[in-house]
Amino acid sequence: MDNKDWDIVSGPKLLGFAMGAGLFFLLLFGSEPGFVFIVDHANLLFHEAGHPLVGLFSERLEPYGGTLGQLVFPCVLAVSFWRKGQSLSLAGAVIWFFENWLNIARYMADARALQLPLVGGGDHDWNTLFSRWHLLRYDVQIATVLKVGGWLGMAGACLWVLWRYWQDRERAKLSPAPTTFIHEVS
Ligand SMILES: [Zn+2]
Repeated sequence: MDNKDWDIVSGPKLLGFAMGAGLFFLLLFGSEPGFVFIVDHANLLFHEAGHPLVGLFSERLEPYGGTLGQLVFPCVLAVSFWRKGQSLSLAGAVIWFFENWLNIARYMADARALQLPLVGGGDHDWNTLFSRWHLLRYDVQIATVLKVGGWLGMAGACLWVLWRYWQDRERAKLSPAPTTFIHEVS
């Protein structure tokens, strides 16, 4: 990973990222434990797209489709940013991935309570799945673990950006101004 050509996280970029992430976390804290405006709208969209897609292949796996759908898109983005070495975009995709864990945890925690309004009024995914796995009475505990994992994942992405910033400072010192060779043509 150290040899990878990551975009340099400069001071201004770090500042921009910190402000964006800070606002995002404020939004999350502000909406906790409820629905996060826009972010969870997008999550819901991918969730609802996931069910019928997985349902095409297996009716039994269909309840998993929503959660998979939510997680697949940030994953695809993350892999694409990773391959392009776009450090801040990668961190953003990873944060979105783990924010989904909070969203999923909220749904899990509702498995017995059945209080959340469900789109389409269909089956409750986690009531179905936890019943199937005989874990229904642990719904709240499992949700809590997922939620903590989500926050840790988001914190990890931020720490990684800080670490990249630090690495890039070193890199800039070792090889100053690699762009100065461009002028030869004129
Ligand atoms: Zn669902």
